[in-house]
Amino acid sequence: MEKLLSSELETRIKAVRYNIAAAAAKSGRESADVRLLAVTKHVPAETINAARALGIDLIGENREQSLGEKYGELERCGLEIHFIGHLQKNKAKSVIKMASCVQSLDSIALAAELERQCVAADKSISAFIEVNIGKDPNKSGIDPEALAGFIESLREYRHLSIDGLMTILPFGLSDLQNERYFSKMHELYVDIRAENRDNIDIHELSMGMSLDYMQAVKHGSTIVRIGTALFSLQR
Ligand SMILES: *Cc1c(COP(=O)(O)O)cnc(C)c1O
Repeated sequence: MEKLLSSELETRIKAVRYNIAAAAAKSGRESADVRLLAVTKHVPAETINAARALGIDLIGENREQSLGEKYGELERCGLEIHFIGHLQKNKAKSVIKMASCVQSLDSIALAAELERQCVAADKSISAFIEVNIGKDPNKSGIDPEALAGFIESLREYRHLSIDGLMTILPFGLSDLQNERYFSKMHELYVDIRAENRDNIDIHELSMGMSLDYMQAVKHGSTIVRIGTALFSLQR
């Protein structure tokens, strides 16, 4: 398989960081308030380790199986791993061993299973609630109207630390439509933050991907999830 040169990877990481800083500055934010999460699905462990050496300290994987295949080879010193894909209950046990955060909490059944596995493993895990802001029937995630009720029912899962909201926008929208959804997500985030509870302290807003992360930063994203712009071999 063709490989990404480390020099090219360095250039791309710099470019993405530069764009994040520029978008943050434009909207009066600090670039330090936005974390870059490198989405490493389809990326071999060797390239992930090269990215780690270039300062990437947070990665996201969307499938338990591919994470499992690479996990043993990753230079994990200082590397934080988030799970960002739809998680099936029967993979929860394996994922909580490898990831420190599940960004894709999208059902009570999954919350209950994560809780059960955390109790068994005597640990806690961070979780973000995935919000289907565009009400896209092909996407998982909680409807914006159902979010408050969903959060209320997460209170009993004491081994889950509910730290953030995550969203994936519908594909193929105009810039303006993207911005509307990002702005709606930010409103939800601000509203929810006003009412903190014991295990629920929402302080992360994970939104923005390769094509729209600058708009997401403009609307308050605290974590952008970038795959293609960093790792694509076609450019
Ligand atoms: C693949 C993926 C991304 C990254 O998308 P790019 O357009 O390649 O930057 C972000 N979030 C999730 C949940 C993904 O599955």
